[in-house]
Amino acid sequence: MLLEVTGLKKYYPLTQGFLYSRKIGEVKAVDDISFNIREGETLGLVGESGCGKSTLGRTVMRLEELTSGKIMFDGIDISSLNNKNRNWLRKEMQMIFQDPHSSLDPRMTVGDSIGEALVIHGIEGKNRVSELLEKVGLPSDFAFRYPHELSGGQKQRIGIARALAVRPRLIIADEPVSALDISVQAQILNLLMDLQKEYGLTYLFIAHNLSVVQHIADRVAVMYLGKIVEQGNSEEIFSNPLHPYTRALLSAVPGLKAKRLKLSGEVPSPINPPNGCRFHTRCPKKMKVCEETEPGITDEEHAVACHLFTNGACGSELK
Ligand code: SF4
Repeated sequence: MLLEVTGLKKYYPLTQGFLYSRKIGEVKAVDDISFNIREGETLGLVGESGCGKSTLGRTVMRLEELTSGKIMFDGIDISSLNNKNRNWLRKEMQMIFQDPHSSLDPRMTVGDSIGEALVIHGIEGKNRVSELLEKVGLPSDFAFRYPHELSGGQKQRIGIARALAVRPRLIIADEPVSALDISVQAQILNLLMDLQKEYGLTYLFIAHNLSVVQHIADRVAVMYLGKIVEQGNSEEIFSNPLHPYTRALLSAVPGLKAKRLKLSGEVPSPINPPNGCRFHTRCPKKMKVCEETEPGITDEEHAVACHLFTNGACGSELK
């Protein structure tokens, strides 16, 4: 495994009073999450906005301190790295952001932006900028352009070139196509897949759009209110979704033949998540036990956290 995450928690304290010194609660953005990614594969992480998936990505990248849990990267525990070792990690792991515009400095040319990453990491970069531009499908004279002269798709290609500059092994792509026009989304996804093949890259691909994830992911993890509620290989998840939340998400995707499952209510606050199954306030299949006992995730290749599939039940109520 290239990445192994075990029992990861990321809580933010809620404070009040003079200098915000009194803790009055916490936001459980990521709450006891475990998953792994094999070298060269893509794990798609999906869920509605606010479910904690971006926080999870930033915590794995070590841009955020974790509250507890363990993150292993290629057999090395990176849960408590100091600043010096985080520099090493930046060469191994890079991030592609949702908004390509805000991730580029408007005062820097494209060449300087890409070159900056090379300088920070002490990488010889004589012809590297033009090489990277070519790899992301842009002519080398783009090195002299400024971000305001580029389209959204071109900016995201620059974001990808910057991420590739240090030759990382793992890329965390946080909604990398959601700010782009539909016609450009497919081009960027195909570019990411081509680069993966060429460089043997591993992706944690975060998205709220399931059709995008279906296009690129080998395996999928579905997140709801800080928890993974279902994970498995992509084909299984899309052809045989088990968790009512996954089914509801899939049934909302045009073109996918999933039985309609309508959600009611709003996503509860992560400050005070519901007892028992966190999804019970919106679940059309809710049972008495769901309000009292939190379902654990099953220990299968296609894993699900739902009482319909634990304790010997088989989910027949869902069919
Ligand atoms: Fe619905 Fe209960 Fe399953 Fe939660 S545990 S998803 S409330 S059936």
